[in-house]
Amino acid sequence: MNKREFLKKSGILITGTALSRFVLGEQPPAARTNWAGNYKYSTDHLLKPKTVEEVQKAVKSCTKLKALGARHSFNGIADSTENQISLKQLDQMTVDKAARSVTVGAGVTYGQLAPYIDAQGFAVHNLASLPHVSVVGACATATHGSGSKNGNLSTAVSAVEFVTADGEIVTLSRQKDGDKFPAAAVALGGLGVVTKITLDVLPTFQVRQVVYENLSMAQLENHLDDIFLSGYSVSLFTDWQNHKATQVWIKRRVEPGSSFEFAPEFYGAKLATQKLHPLAGHSAENCTEQLGIPGPWYERLPHFRMNFTPSSGAELQTEYFVPRNRAYEAILAVEKLRDQVGPHLFISELRTIDADELWMSTAYKRPSLAIHFTWKPEWPAVKGLLPMIEEQLTPFDARPHWAKLFTMVPSRLQSLYTKLPDYKELVKHYDPNGKFRNGFLDTNLYGA
Ligand SMILES: Cc1cc2nc3c(=O)[nH]c(=O)nc-3n(C[C@H](O)[C@H](O)[C@H](O)COP(=O)(O)OP(=O)(O)OC[C@H]3O[C@@H](n4cnc5c(N)ncnc54)[C@H](O)[C@@H]3O)c2cc1C
Repeated sequence: MNKREFLKKSGILITGTALSRFVLGEQPPAARTNWAGNYKYSTDHLLKPKTVEEVQKAVKSCTKLKALGARHSFNGIADSTENQISLKQLDQMTVDKAARSVTVGAGVTYGQLAPYIDAQGFAVHNLASLPHVSVVGACATATHGSGSKNGNLSTAVSAVEFVTADGEIVTLSRQKDGDKFPAAAVALGGLGVVTKITLDVLPTFQVRQVVYENLSMAQLENHLDDIFLSGYSVSLFTDWQNHKATQVWIKRRVEPGSSFEFAPEFYGAKLATQKLHPLAGHSAENCTEQLGIPGPWYERLPHFRMNFTPSSGAELQTEYFVPRNRAYEAILAVEKLRDQVGPHLFISELRTIDADELWMSTAYKRPSLAIHFTWKPEWPAVKGLLPMIEEQLTPFDARPHWAKLFTMVPSRLQSLYTKLPDYKELVKHYDPNGKFRNGFLDTNLYGA
């Protein structure tokens, strides 16, 4: 399709001037799938504004529009049948040392943010397993790392600037907008197109990471809290076989003056003496440094190194959040499915997240354990397994990760979020005609 046809089809041949400069018309978009390649976006119309004004014009010109981040979600949460908008070019970052905050454009990824703030003496409190996700896209879906005392990434958000359906710019802040802000920090892309986000920062810190092998799951019965509190961030990996976690990754902050060693045994698990990948037999080259070697927070908190794009996207992901006080029971419930799950699983990861007050957060008012599955790219089989896992986790009111694959019926999902009606009120206020609603939101938040 040539540029003129494209503009016509996209319904934005209105001025032929400002808009056409930032609409991707000459070249077909490089990738019209998500990172994993399991989800094909339903439109070829991708707007690429360079400024906030261009975002406003784009929003005004479309009747339907969905913002796209770094394409790392596994489902249709960022999809649109009409127009998507990528704010990748809005990549400015400003640290406010006095306020201890950083404000970033919506195109910025954690991989860009982290070295920038670290160089100025700051850190964010936590990171996801890989740094390639955008800050705005990650916060929109309550993306998390691990650490029983760490809220998910969106708990660092103190202000969000977004363009509403009528093209106006609104800023909601934690300090001034207590009644609305809890919907804006985890907004699922529903309130508007976010142009800027402000995060709390803390003084930079160093982290040491070690891996222990073969922790009996039985240890979790009485020591789950101690195990997950044994580091700033702790992850257990399991294939659900033999009632054990194959690996325990412990990331500890290096406190000034402390020089302790990691014990050779941890609840019966053995300290690894070489660097490991979570998947047995895979090269650990692209994993962050282990063996207790200290390094900057952003080179230890993710599992995968910044300058490596993880192998390929040939995987699927699912994750459920259960209340921490019932975590062990929930683990046992999933473990019952080990024979069915095993053949289709790469690995599972167990992480903890502190409770928060963000209405649509998977950890809303619940200190949580996240039970994650990295699946082989075998969707028909995985699709058959998810209802079985969800059934096992029903007694625990498990909430699925917004950005991963799940099969829970919408009415059940909706019942897990007591503040959903308030969130919807706010969506209606900023987007009365559903410009930012897509199939995912229509089904999961508004469907029966
Ligand atoms: C390999 C891999 C590892 C992962 N590890 C973790 C992990 O450790 N922990 C975890 O919790 N999750 C993890 N995820 C999931 C990932 O963090 C989420 O899918 C996250 O939302 C991806 O962000 P993104 O920038 O790719 O946004 P996208 O997937 O492109 O979009 C996600 C949502 O953000 C919205 N959005 C994006 N930009 C804007 C904007 N400017 N304005 C309004 N809305 C916007 C979209 O509309 C959509 O609703 C992982 C995913 C992959 C592929």
